[in-house]
Amino acid sequence: MALATINPIDLGSDVSFLFYDKIVNSKRGDRKRILYGEIINDNVIYSELYKKIKEKYRVYDKHVRILELLVEDSYSEVDKEALQHCYDGSTVALIELKRTIIKNQSSFYQSKCAYCGIDGIDGMDHYIPKEKFPEYAVHPHNLIPACSCCNGKKSDLFLNGSEIQRRAFFNPYFDEININILNLEIEYLESTNSFSFKLNVEDENYIVHLDTLGIIHRYEKEAINIFDNLRIEIISSFEAHFDMYDNLSTYEKSFKNQLKKSRDIKLRERGINSLDFLVYDSFYKSEYCSVAFFINMFEDSNSKLKLANKGNIKMD
Ligand SMILES: [Zn+2]
Repeated sequence: MALATINPIDLGSDVSFLFYDKIVNSKRGDRKRILYGEIINDNVIYSELYKKIKEKYRVYDKHVRILELLVEDSYSEVDKEALQHCYDGSTVALIELKRTIIKNQSSFYQSKCAYCGIDGIDGMDHYIPKEKFPEYAVHPHNLIPACSCCNGKKSDLFLNGSEIQRRAFFNPYFDEININILNLEIEYLESTNSFSFKLNVEDENYIVHLDTLGIIHRYEKEAINIFDNLRIEIISSFEAHFDMYDNLSTYEKSFKNQLKKSRDIKLRERGINSLDFLVYDSFYKSEYCSVAFFINMFEDSNSKLKLANKGNIKMD
């Protein structure tokens, strides 16, 4: 989910560069000559660009937590095109790298965007844009599995544009947040007999990230879907299990315990700022956290019949 940490590929010294080496070695013609070098009498004569990028990778690896300090370099148009082509061209080595990055994640993040956690993965975002830093077009720690919405909105942005060089975006590989940055408020709207959600951001350091990627609005919208599924689960579970209880208040107690357990699992598995956790948490703490509320709200006749059978309510 937004502001959650995903697993970086474990890279020993220079391992990140081995991926680059593999990709450029599989190029052909002029691009191979520029990016890799030439083979003369079985000896590789590495190109100047190859040696330069090897050094650049060392710089990146040393600065993974302070990438804002990296300085843009200038490249000839031909070199820049070749470097960017490392990502744009689909070599077997690049496909393998992307696969390795995704396989390294928890089951949730093998299919969800690392920036928002809402939409599926449509490709890789370059944390440091490849337009400005073409040398890192295929650096494994610069490739973030992302949805097309986040990737498109983030575009070539990287620094926040203030006088002090600061990164504008949370880096899912190396930034870590263990406190509540997001807070979701649930509200029941009587006029439409529905719920709405409002997301509050409690730390302004993340406003740019959340605003630029449209996460505040997307969270509030998606929360309604998650909550509606939860509501259906609550009613169907009530209908399946109420016979085991003597009355509604004992059932309500068990329901709240179960909801708290689910909330705690969301917290453990998805993180304190994950949308799943926030939806469950806001509902659990709210005045609407009761099965009776849902039964009345939606005038669910099956559920009402169950209550009436046990004398918990009178049917009209
Ligand atoms: Zn996304």
